[in-house]
Formats: sequence, C-alpha cells, structure tokens
Amino acid sequence: MRSCEVLIVGGGPAGSSAAWKLRKAGTDVLVLDRERFPRLKLCAGWITPEVVRDLDMDVGAYPHRLLTFPRLRVHFGRLHLPIACVQHSIRRLEWDAWLLERSGAPVLEHNVRHIEREAEGYVIDGEFRCRYLIGAGGTRCPVYRELFREVNPRSSELQIVTLEHEIRYDWQDGDCHLWFFDHGLPGYSWYVPKERGWLNVGIGGIAARMKRGGHDIRAHFARLAALLGGGLTPGARYDPSGYSYYLRGRTDVVRRDNAFITGDAAGLATRDLGEGIGPAIRSGLRAARAILGGESYELDDVTGLSIGSIGRSLIGRLVHPGVSYGRPRGVAAGGGAAHGLRHSDQ
Ligand SMILES: Cc1cc2nc3c(=O)[nH]c(=O)nc-3n(C[C@H](O)[C@H](O)[C@H](O)COP(=O)(O)OP(=O)(O)OC[C@H]3O[C@@H](n4cnc5c(N)ncnc54)[C@H](O)[C@@H]3O)c2cc1C
Repeated sequence: MRSCEVLIVGGGPAGSSAAWKLRKAGTDVLVLDRERFPRLKLCAGWITPEVVRDLDMDVGAYPHRLLTFPRLRVHFGRLHLPIACVQHSIRRLEWDAWLLERSGAPVLEHNVRHIEREAEGYVIDGEFRCRYLIGAGGTRCPVYRELFREVNPRSSELQIVTLEHEIRYDWQDGDCHLWFFDHGLPGYSWYVPKERGWLNVGIGGIAARMKRGGHDIRAHFARLAALLGGGLTPGARYDPSGYSYYLRGRTDVVRRDNAFITGDAAGLATRDLGEGIGPAIRSGLRAARAILGGESYELDDVTGLSIGSIGRSLIGRLVHPGVSYGRPRGVAAGGGAAHGLRHSDQ
C-alpha cells in the first residue's frame, strides 16, 4: 500500500493548485487522476486577473496559448455593450497540464472508486493510504459522492448544462462575445477566441429552467452556429459535446474530519456566469492552507459572483488606461502569428 500525507483526487485547477501550495511547503502529496494529462476538459477557458494573481502566474513566461481581451462584448437582444475590461483565455488542454506539472507533485493515473475512513486517515481503493484527503474530482468527484453527498446535497435548481466545441479557426475578431437570454435561454452563449487560431464557442443554461421552458439545448446551439456563420465565423463547422456542473449554493459542509471538497466537487461556480476556474483554484489553495496551518477551511473569500471581477477590471482600465495587464506583444510561445488583440494594442 502506498502512503502519503495528503492525497488529492483530481488534477484539474482545484487539485493542482492545492498540490502546488502543499509541495511548496514540502508536504508529501500524491495526486490521482483517472485521466492522463494533457487531457480534454470541456470549458471555454476564460480566466480572470484574480486567477493569474492567485497562481502567481507570469503571463509573459507562460509557454502556451494565452490571449488577453481588452474588452468583453455583451449582447442582450438588440442591445450591444462593449465593456472595457481585461480578461484572458487559455486552452484547458494545455493549461491544466502545465499547472499540474508546475505543482511538482507526483501524479498517478488511477480512477478512484472507494474511500474508507480509518482511525488515522483514509484508504483509497485498498491501494493508497493518507492522513488528509482533498476531493478535487469535479462534478463526479468520488470524495464528494462517498463522504459529502449525504450531508451536502446539490440542488437541481443550480445545475448547469452546456454544449461547446473548441476548434481550430483563424478568427478575425479577438474580443470575447457573450449573448444573454437569446430566444429565452436561461443562460448565455459565448465566442471565446484563443491565441493563434483556436476558438471556443458554446452555450450554457440552468438545466431545470430549460426543462420547464421546453428548451432544447441543441436547437439553441444550432441558432448560435447560424448567427456566428453569418458573422464572426463564416465557414466554421461545429460538433459540440456537453458537460454539466453546479453553481454556488449553500455549501454547508466542505470539510469532514481530514477530508475536504474543492472546486466543482463542492459546486462553487459563480451564480451569474458559471465561472468555475477561479473558485476551484481559490478553494484548492484554501484547503492546502487549512492543512498546512491547522486552520479552519473557509470559503468566505471564494467569490460567488463574477460581476465583481469584471467591475474591478473595468474600473482599473478607466483609471489606468495605459497599463498593460496581458502578455506583452511578440512573446507568444511556440512561434506562429500571435494575432490576438492584447491590452497593449489598444
Ligand atoms: C462548457 C463549459 C465551459 C466552461 N467555461 C468556463 C470558463 O470559461 N471559465 C471558468 O472559470 N469556468 C468555466 N467552466 C467551469 C470550469 O470548467 C470548472 O468549474 C472547473 O474546471 C472546475 O475545476 P475542478 O478542478 O474543480 O474540476 P475539473 O477541472 O473537472 O477537474 C477534475 C479532475 O478530476 C478527475 N477525476 C474525476 N473523477 C475522478 C476519479 N474518480 N478518480 C480520479 N480522478 C478523477 C478528472 O479527470 C479531472 O481531471 C466551464 C464549464 C463547462 C462545462
């Protein structure tokens, strides 16, 4: 049986940021993930300046695709609003693998099924023993399922369904576009360009409201594809896939003894925009801090709304219009034309 001090189930943003903080303090950590990295994760890959800060990330040195949007373009029916704020996009396939490797933690490919509580900690599938256990396995996290579901049930009213596709596409518009409530959708659609010829488009909505309103997510996606085909993405072809996760509700119990849940396992995505990466990272860091410092595990500073971050960024741009927050021009990794609009281009 392999033993470690902290075992982390899941190597996504929640798990890798917990592993990073713990490893920096010299803790004996092991990450188990059922997939081999780099692995596909359905996600638009929009990240905020807070994420960059939390991870101490030097965007100039990041070796993969990272695009900085100088503005968001928000559409409500016939109302079209450009919002001058700084946000970024990455490709999850690249970024998650980079974060996990950067953590310095050993990673094993293992699909976790059973968790047993014992006097000094936990035994996983009869193969791994640990004192602390961090559940960072996303929506279907086995730590949530085995230790938390009963005491912390998820509300079906907070479940999000999505359809998305990330394609190679030589886009011309480097802004991020969001369409809210189009054709009555209880949610929004997105166009998120990535650096050097990649693009993510998708749609997400509250599952229960879509069901009650008789919405068909594939019909909504077809409308989005038609809209894009006539404007932003002529000639693009999409074959979208779906995934589901939960918005932040009452997360009453996120720690039981020495077991923690973080990120999507705890259902922490923001209520307004379904932003889950930032909350996953912040909660992973908080779980690590609780273990290192013997502190309580609090999610008070894990935001439940994205609007605050966008507002802060908007004010920052208005107050300091010349400051560059993105990757400086010309340092895109790996060669090729870096044709994304960056803050310094404006
Ligand atoms: C279509 C879509 C678009 C999105 N767009 C955005 C966006 O633009 N910005 C944003 O902030 N958020 C977005 N989100 C939400 C965001 O993707 C998630 O909130 C975020 O990935 C949560 O991170 P996590 O580390 O908790 O879980 P995950 O990223 O899901 O990582 C969980 C890991 O656990 C592993 N795992 C699962 N089960 C097991 C098991 N039994 N044993 C071992 N390993 C296991 C998985 O393989 C995976 O690697 C989007 C979500 C979707 C579905």
